Amino acid sequence: MASKDGYSWTKADGLRPGIPCIGAIQPPSNVKDVQEYDVIVVGAGYSGLTAARDASVAGLKVLLLEARDRIGGRSWSSNIEGYPYEMGGTWVYWGQATVWREIARYGMQDDLEISYDFSRGINKFLLASAHGTQDFTHEQEDALMESALCKLVNIDGTHGRDTIPYPHSGILNPQARKYDYVSVADRLAEIKHQLTPNERLCAEAFILLCSGATLETTSFYEFLHWWALCGYSYEGCINHLVKYKFKGGQSSFAIRFFGEALASGNLSYAFNQPVASVKDSSSGVAVTTRTGQTFKARRMISAMPLNVLADVKFEPPLSKGREAAAKTGHVNQTVKVHAEISDRDLRSFTGISYPHNNLIYGFGDGETPKGNTHVVAFGGQHNHFHPEDSIERTIEAFKGFAPMNVERVVFHNWSRDEFAKGAWFFSAPGLLADHLKDMRDRHGNIFFSCSDWALGWRSFIDGAIEEGGRAAAAVRADLLGRAKI
Ligand code: FAD
Repeated sequence: MASKDGYSWTKADGLRPGIPCIGAIQPPSNVKDVQEYDVIVVGAGYSGLTAARDASVAGLKVLLLEARDRIGGRSWSSNIEGYPYEMGGTWVYWGQATVWREIARYGMQDDLEISYDFSRGINKFLLASAHGTQDFTHEQEDALMESALCKLVNIDGTHGRDTIPYPHSGILNPQARKYDYVSVADRLAEIKHQLTPNERLCAEAFILLCSGATLETTSFYEFLHWWALCGYSYEGCINHLVKYKFKGGQSSFAIRFFGEALASGNLSYAFNQPVASVKDSSSGVAVTTRTGQTFKARRMISAMPLNVLADVKFEPPLSKGREAAAKTGHVNQTVKVHAEISDRDLRSFTGISYPHNNLIYGFGDGETPKGNTHVVAFGGQHNHFHPEDSIERTIEAFKGFAPMNVERVVFHNWSRDEFAKGAWFFSAPGLLADHLKDMRDRHGNIFFSCSDWALGWRSFIDGAIEEGGRAAAAVRADLLGRAKI
C-alpha cells in the first residue's frame, strides 16, 4: 500500500509524490450505518490512536475520523526496497515511560535497533562552518557538546535542576516562567564570552536541531525542559533523542494500536475525511467533514495539532486562550531528509554544517539492503527550504557535511502539510507560560489531546500517548458520571 504523503527521488525515476506505507488503511472506511457514537476521535496520530484504542477497549462506541489516507500523523515510515525511512517521529527510549509501556504491551522490546554504528568507516564528527571543515573523534564531539550545553543551561549552578525539578509537572515555577519569556538568542548573548567559537557553533546547531526554529523564536525554557527530561546531561539527550528506532519503522508500532482498537469490535473509522466544523450543544457533538457528512457523538476528542486547530470551525468558538495559542502556533519548521548514498565509510559520521548550509545536522543512520549508507539530515526555519522545489539544492545540502554520492532522497515536507503545518511542537518565548493550561482544558463536550500540550515528553511520541490516555480516561469518567479528571 502507498500513501499520498511523502516524496522519493532517484536519478532514474526523478521526483515522485507518494510513497509505500504499511500504515495506509484499506478499505478507507468501515462505517456502515448511521449511529450516535459515545465518542468521536478526530486525528489518527499516536494521540488519537491511543484515545481511540483505550476508549474502544473500555467498551465505548468510537468513531475515528482522519484527514489522511493513513495512521500515524507526524510519525510514519515508508518501506522502500525493504528498508524503512522515517518521515517524522522516529526514536524512542526506555526513559520515556509512556512509550515504553506501549512497547512492552505489544512485546516489541526486541524490534528496536541502534541508529549509530561507530565500528567501521571514517568514524568522525565533521564540523563544517563558513571557514571550512574540522574533524574530531566522537569522544571529542561529546566533550565539545557537553561543555557547550552545560554552560548554556547552567542558570542556577545546578545545570537546570533547581529551575525544573519536576520535568513532568505542568506548573511552571517563577524561575521557569521567567525563562519561558527568554529566547535562546537572549541566553546565548548572556554567555557569549564563556563559549569558544566551536562551542558556540555546536550549541547553536544542537538547539536548532531540537527546535527547528531560529534562535530568536526558540523558548529557552522549552529547551531547558528537554534537557531536564533527558536527565540534565548531553549523554541523556543522545540516548533519549536519537538512539533506538524500530527495525520495521514507526508504522509497524502505530498499526498495533489501530489493530487492537479494531479487534475490540467497537471501532468505526473513516480516513480521507478532513473535519471542517464541530458543533457542540447540550445534546452532544456534531462533527461535519469537508465532504459534508455529519457524525454525532456524546463526546469528542480533538487529537489535531495546534498549528491546524484554527482551520476547523468550532461552535461555540474556542476559548480566547486556546484561540490565542492556536493563532500563535508552535515554531518548528524542521526539514528532515533521508539520502541513500554509495559511500559506505560514511556510516559512522556525524556532522554539523552551520550556519551557511540548508541542512544543519546529519549522521549515518543505517545500512540499506544494497549495502549503501543511509544518512538522515535536519534543517529548519534557519535557512529554510522545501526539498521538492530543488532536488539539486537538497543534494548540495547533503554534500555540505562531506562529499557524497547520493542515489536516493526520501522525505515528507511538514511545512507544506496542511494537516500539520510544521513538525514536532516547539514553542516561541511566552506560549507555554501564557497558554499551556488553555491548550489542555476541556471545552464543553470536547476534550483536547495532542503531544503539543503534553506535560512530560511534549513534542514526542511519548507525549502523544500520554495525552491520548488522559483524554480517553476523562471521557470515560465523564460518561460514567464519575468525578471530572
Ligand atoms: P499528530 O501525529 O500530528 O496527529 C494528528 C492527526 O490529526 C494527524 O493524523 C492529522 O492528519 C490529523 N488531522 C489534522 N487536521 C485534521 C482534520 N481537520 N480532520 C481530521 N484529521 C485531522 N517524536 C519522538 O518521540 N521521537 C522522534 O524521533 C521524533 N522525531 C520527529 C521528527 C519529525 C520530522 C516530526 C515531524 C516529528 C517528530 N517527533 C518525534 C514528534 C512526534 O512525531 C509527534 O510529537 C507525535 O507523532 C504527535 O502525535 P499527535 O497524535 O499528538 O499528533
